[in-house]
Amino acid sequence: MTKSPFAALGLVPELLDALHDKGYSTPTPIQQRAIPHVLAGRDLLGIAQTGTGKTAAFALPMLQLLTETQERPKPRQPRALVLAPTRELAAQIHESFVTYGHHLDFDAAVIFGGVGQAPQVEALRKGLDVLVATPGRLLDLMQQRHVALSAVEIFVLDEADRMLDMGFLPDVKRVIAALPKHRHSVLFSATMPKEIANLAHSLLVDPQRVEVTPPASTVDRITQSLYFVAKNDKRALLAMVLEDPAFARTLVFTRTKHGADRVARHLHKAGFPVAAIHGDKGQGARERALDGFREGKITVLVATDIAARGIDVPEITHVVNFDLPNIPESYVHRIGRTARAGRDGVAISFCDAEEREYLRDIEKLTRQRIPVLKTPALPASERKTVDTADPVPAPRPHAARPGHGGRGPGRRGPGGGRRRRR
Ligand code: AMP
Repeated sequence: MTKSPFAALGLVPELLDALHDKGYSTPTPIQQRAIPHVLAGRDLLGIAQTGTGKTAAFALPMLQLLTETQERPKPRQPRALVLAPTRELAAQIHESFVTYGHHLDFDAAVIFGGVGQAPQVEALRKGLDVLVATPGRLLDLMQQRHVALSAVEIFVLDEADRMLDMGFLPDVKRVIAALPKHRHSVLFSATMPKEIANLAHSLLVDPQRVEVTPPASTVDRITQSLYFVAKNDKRALLAMVLEDPAFARTLVFTRTKHGADRVARHLHKAGFPVAAIHGDKGQGARERALDGFREGKITVLVATDIAARGIDVPEITHVVNFDLPNIPESYVHRIGRTARAGRDGVAISFCDAEEREYLRDIEKLTRQRIPVLKTPALPASERKTVDTADPVPAPRPHAARPGHGGRGPGRRGPGGGRRRRR
């Protein structure tokens, strides 16, 4: 039998078995390039966004390094620390360690805010090989002396640019200051703003730099399209678009938390199994929504940019930009939620009169024009108010109806075949 491509990277049989169980046959480019360096003990600067397989790129070699020494962790002194910006991302990273380390003997736990600390304190007390944490709760528990970072052998800072966006950089620096001087460090970031480059410089010693898939090439694999639509018609258009059974798992983005709730309420009334996630939702509600979405009980998840960060649902079939983001990079991040791990995806955007400027910025960044679809006739009953700004924009020269894989809703008349889902 020929050696599996993962074995060629130097991974032990226990990890190969876990990857086999998970159905992964080939490493992604970031895994291919990062794993050998991390295994060799090199510091690593990884430039890769979510969806590239970056979690396994650090989790697999870490599991191998931590378990080959047979050392047991001391109480309250984890041997490895992974810092992540959001609760969802932290939970998913922890889940990845559990999955990939299924055939190995090690202890891992995740800690984040918004939930009681007692179980987290208990897990720390027992001793951990891997601690995954968000910065705020970690600092909190450090201050209470429930955890010390003096025994950390391997440190990973994940989504460093998100830490910066979310204002966590001071907290991150305080965590780093508490780490031992001699350690093995890895930093992942989708982009490299100056602050992160500086941080990388101070954190990493002679790092190996690996960079994969700049956003534009992700964008290339995604079928994108756009509807020009009046602001007040967006909800009716969304309900119509979602009638298409091809929209099996759709992530809908809104700019605001209120917007997310409003859209979710509207879709709920229209009979769609929908949930909203955003910063005001309790941890329980967020986890229920994500679990339901993963299991397919919820087919539409409405989210804000921040809440959607780190969501790992590989089977997202469609991304809908109910509102266009005012930061063009967010468009690339959003649509990158579909087309993960090599899959193709579909992204549809709604653009009202006030969002034309955002559209221009997005098209400038991606260096692509997004094909425009003909806006279908919408049910009159849903058009309570009229967007006076510019309800029917002039068609652009390249306006076309390429559809999204030929599965678009375009021709469906008002009111036909609604409430498909229970
Ligand atoms: P990440 O970038 O770590 O969030 O991973 C993105 C998605 O790709 C996750 O759903 C992983 O489970 C999946 N994945 C990671 N590595 C592989 C692989 N080698 N083959 C197939 N899927 C993968």
